[in-house]
Amino acid sequence: MTAQISGRPVLRSADELQRIVDEGIAELGISEGHDADARDVIAWAARTFGSKWALTASMQDTVLAHLVSQVAPGTDVLFLETGYHFPETLATRDAVRERYDVNVVDLVPEQTPAQQDETYGKDLFGTNPDLCCLLRKEAPLDEAMERYEAWGSGMRRAEAVTRTGAPQISFDLRRRRVKVAPLAAWSDADVEAYVKEHDVIMNPLLSQGYPSIGCATCTRKVAPGEDPRSGRWAGTGKIECGINL
Ligand code: SF4
Repeated sequence: MTAQISGRPVLRSADELQRIVDEGIAELGISEGHDADARDVIAWAARTFGSKWALTASMQDTVLAHLVSQVAPGTDVLFLETGYHFPETLATRDAVRERYDVNVVDLVPEQTPAQQDETYGKDLFGTNPDLCCLLRKEAPLDEAMERYEAWGSGMRRAEAVTRTGAPQISFDLRRRRVKVAPLAAWSDADVEAYVKEHDVIMNPLLSQGYPSIGCATCTRKVAPGEDPRSGRWAGTGKIECGINL
């Protein structure tokens, strides 16, 4: 299902959103060492923010998009269409758009890859990946977030050392929005079990040596036993694109 995002709704203040986070944590019984059920977190977000919340999806395993389509159908799912994705990732996005009851919205950078080459020199992802991610991921997401009070992601603590402390509900100080990570506590086995049970759409690259999938230009295959995220921006020292920080 496809939809447009239009208009700029009036959003609650940062103080109010911070208060909503505190109330949500209390309502869902979240505390150190105790996480809420992912479905309850999604239901809370849908009830609290209505159409003013959205998911971001990398179109890797689509578990969160599937869960949300069940608990809160019609939710906006934002896809960062950087212009550098693998064809398999774009096909996964298209399948989600067709099969799941969510609104898939492509967020497109201001410049095409060719225009970016013209402005910043050829292949900015090779010379300055931080700037490339800023232009092609962070800026379009920041612009889209002007329409939302909250955003959800499929981020899991088990995915990377940088994510071990990820809370299920928090206040994103930089964007001044509520950040929701319903799957924060899920292990790889939890994901695997959900995928099997619900026949979730999977990016085929996952079974071809790519356990973490980003832009094709910045993702390489990972050997068995290697850190799953070591294939992202390999050799540059970069480990996150910035949108989850
Ligand atoms: S992952 Fe690579 S190509 Fe994609 S936006 Fe970041 S630097 Fe650019």
